[in-house]
Amino acid sequence: MSGPAIEVDDLHKRYGDLQAVAGVSFTVERGEFFGILGPNGAGKTTTLEMVEGLREPDSGSVRLLGESPWPRNPRLLPRMGVQLQASAFFEKLSAREQLQTFGALYGVPARRVDEMLELVGLSDKASTREDRLSGGQRQRLSIACSLVHDPELVFFDEPTAALDPQARRNLWDVLREVQARGTTVVYTTHYLDEAEILCDRVAIMDAGTVLALDTPAALVRGLQADTRVALPAGLLSASDARALPGVGRVQDGDGELVMSTQEPARLVQALAERDRLDGVSVRTATLEDVFLHLTGREYRA
Ligand code: ATP
Repeated sequence: MSGPAIEVDDLHKRYGDLQAVAGVSFTVERGEFFGILGPNGAGKTTTLEMVEGLREPDSGSVRLLGESPWPRNPRLLPRMGVQLQASAFFEKLSAREQLQTFGALYGVPARRVDEMLELVGLSDKASTREDRLSGGQRQRLSIACSLVHDPELVFFDEPTAALDPQARRNLWDVLREVQARGTTVVYTTHYLDEAEILCDRVAIMDAGTVLALDTPAALVRGLQADTRVALPAGLLSASDARALPGVGRVQDGDGELVMSTQEPARLVQALAERDRLDGVSVRTATLEDVFLHLTGREYRA
């Protein structure tokens, strides 16, 4: 199939006096892992719901796999997956039974259920009732349910919210595996660090608009921010640091000496020549710096 997976053009949505989405446009290519990022209330969920065909836009258009998702388009339903909120599980069923029930709606073969349990790392919990799974396991089960009919495109709305760091990382492996199978993934998150790791491209939203859209690396590069090279305190004096090639600002304190530079390779090379590489860390700008640059305020999810 040719053509993009999603084409969104100038979407608007108002709730009473509140303009929740104010002119959002983007395109998602097939096979892409696309992130919609932003703080609470940015309009991510509303945008996603309009793209999924769950909410009618006030204006603007959406093409999903070449078709319009609104009004509800039965041709699209088998081709797309939407992660359910955990509360949408059937009551008192085990993990396997949940998947079997969703699978039966689409007539998928029984072996697909076990394959999905394996994919999300729940094979050993197949017989456990959904309400006895941990938060992370329940999130993984809801992802499996959205994939059981082998859709071309899946939508996940904050799949890693409220998970502890280990459970988040486990889920990243699942999300990567989904994309590796060729599925287009669109997801929302308010964790910028996570999006930087997972996404091919991100749309950064705030107050109902897309502030920036590109690969995380290009967004960060576009800032032309200094790289910070830090050394544990006591290895190099501030005046020696200032004399090194490519060094801009030098900050000494908090147990470390931090040098800002536009030429990190040259600076690290100079440190290596002086045998001062032990404990060195190199910090580049992040998407949080991009958000700060775009909005003038710190990113707070
Ligand atoms: P979060 O990260 O908190 O989920 P979000 O970026 O997904 O936020 P939305 O849920 O799209 O943002 O909400 C955008 C704005 O619209 C918010 O101010 C929210 O309070 C408001 N809103 C969302 N849904 C409704 C609704 N059904 N009725 C009225 N206002 C709504």
